[in-house]
Amino acid sequence: MGLFMENIKDIKELEYIKGIFDTHAHYNDEKYENNREEIIKYVHENGVDYICNVGASFKDSEDSVKLAASHSFIYCSVGVHPFYVENLEKNWDKKFINLANNKKVVAVGEAGLDYSSKGFSKEKQFEVFEKQLDIAQSLNLPVIIHSRDAAQDTLDVIKNFPNVKGVIHCFSGDDVLALKYIDMGWYLGFTGVVTFKNANKTVRAVCAAPIERIVVETDCPYMAPEPLRGNVCNSVMLRFVIKKISEVKNIPVEEVLYHTKLNAFSLYKIKL
Ligand SMILES: [Zn+2]
Repeated sequence: MGLFMENIKDIKELEYIKGIFDTHAHYNDEKYENNREEIIKYVHENGVDYICNVGASFKDSEDSVKLAASHSFIYCSVGVHPFYVENLEKNWDKKFINLANNKKVVAVGEAGLDYSSKGFSKEKQFEVFEKQLDIAQSLNLPVIIHSRDAAQDTLDVIKNFPNVKGVIHCFSGDDVLALKYIDMGWYLGFTGVVTFKNANKTVRAVCAAPIERIVVETDCPYMAPEPLRGNVCNSVMLRFVIKKISEVKNIPVEEVLYHTKLNAFSLYKIKL
């Protein structure tokens, strides 16, 4: 499965990259069905100090809270991704607020807009996105934004919630869009996409963004970085993302580690 990577030369060479905060992971995913606990143990023993496990549907958010409850180094978020807005029950928001009040919940999301696939009602996406921003505001929680093929609409919606901040997850826009979000006080989350060969635009965004506004994330099981692209991803693979950011910005790896971890604490308001 390519998950246990002791024998992969590339990843061994980067063993010195440790003290990582993976700000966006999906360890509830069925891809980990057979070895979830083993993988979580493996990543924690190999330089991954903290994880935020992200909820994408109501059920997934419940599972995420459970996962965080059983691991001290795992935090979680509760959220409804734009592809899961259709079948919410009538008073979902009340249950959602209850769930969000759990002490391991550090954010609302992923929430947002996604126009990449037809067959999803834009109106419903807007309604559930705005409701989650509203809840985040009332609970004073940051928001993890999922935005795909919907940059302008996403900007327009979050401008209506000036007190709500958070992270633009899996940022893959250009430098101009990156600076717009940063000017509004948001963080940008970079995944394995920055290592992909066709990622010039995203690399420009990494260049333009001050290191004080960047966090790293796997979005695992997806988005495994080069040279492991296509494999089931896990948080240890963030070594490649951190290395790439250090090369692009021409700063030491240690500096990228230090800032991305500190930024993650600040983004999720975690006090140790
Ligand atoms: Zn995600």
